[in-house]
Amino acid sequence: MTQSGKGRIIAVANQKGGVGKTTTAINLATAMAAVDKHVLIVDLDPQGNASTGLGIDRASREITSYDVVMGAADLQDAVIETEVPLVELIPSTVDLSGADLELAELPQRNFRLRQAFDLAEVSSAYDYVLIDCPPSLSLLTINAFVAADQVLVPLQCEFFALEGLSLLLKTINQVQASLNPQLSINGIVLTMFDRRNRLSEQVASDVRQYLGSQVYETMIPRNVRISEAPSHGMPALIYDHRCPGSQAYISLARELLTRDGALAA
Ligand code: ADP
Ligand code: MG
Repeated sequence: MTQSGKGRIIAVANQKGGVGKTTTAINLATAMAAVDKHVLIVDLDPQGNASTGLGIDRASREITSYDVVMGAADLQDAVIETEVPLVELIPSTVDLSGADLELAELPQRNFRLRQAFDLAEVSSAYDYVLIDCPPSLSLLTINAFVAADQVLVPLQCEFFALEGLSLLLKTINQVQASLNPQLSINGIVLTMFDRRNRLSEQVASDVRQYLGSQVYETMIPRNVRISEAPSHGMPALIYDHRCPGSQAYISLARELLTRDGALAA
């Protein structure tokens, strides 16, 4: 357990799609579980990629994050086991795509996930809770920021990366100021890094200059084994633990856990 018995809730967020949020959530969880951390992944994206990537077929997604956010089911009842020991999941389906509009009509619309977490005492039941956010700054993402202690931002090493980042950081600041004062940045992780590409190097160095120590030392390389893993219904770390992408996620987990004091240095 981290922080005197309190598990840490981390939203994995970036309003851009395809930057590595889901890949980061499931592989970070798998690497943490390998060192005995009990992890819950909350799939908060209607695309359900985290659920698919963990091998959970649609028929097994009976109670989903939609039901939890809408208050139609208790969080505990939505949790299912995955093939990865110590990694549990609240799955999602396309139902969740209607949640933004429906939430807008509900009282406490920003606090729905937080209330479900509190009621189920998730932060004492797990070492880490990773929320895989949708690619938008929608009410669902705001719910994740309100429920979370921290935000982990995967950033793809490409030209427009920094542009989207300032809006994301502004949104996090706004949530901090009004809805969740304890929210902080866990870190920025550079993804799909290609050392042969000068632009990748340039973006990485700009981001480090701009954000300093908030950026993890570990960079996740672009690696075809990572992109193959989801179609096999397993995290890259299980599909091929030796590939450079998997090794990078182990290194990211080590850095994160060490920063948290959750791993002997
Ligand atoms: P997001 O959740 O931000 O939309 P994903 O994690 O689903 O992004 O990644 C988008 C796509 O890129 C997926 O097909 C995924 O398998 C692939 N991908 C993610 N990270 C890498 C990587 N480091 N190298 C190669 N492909 C990757
Ligand atoms: Mg995703």
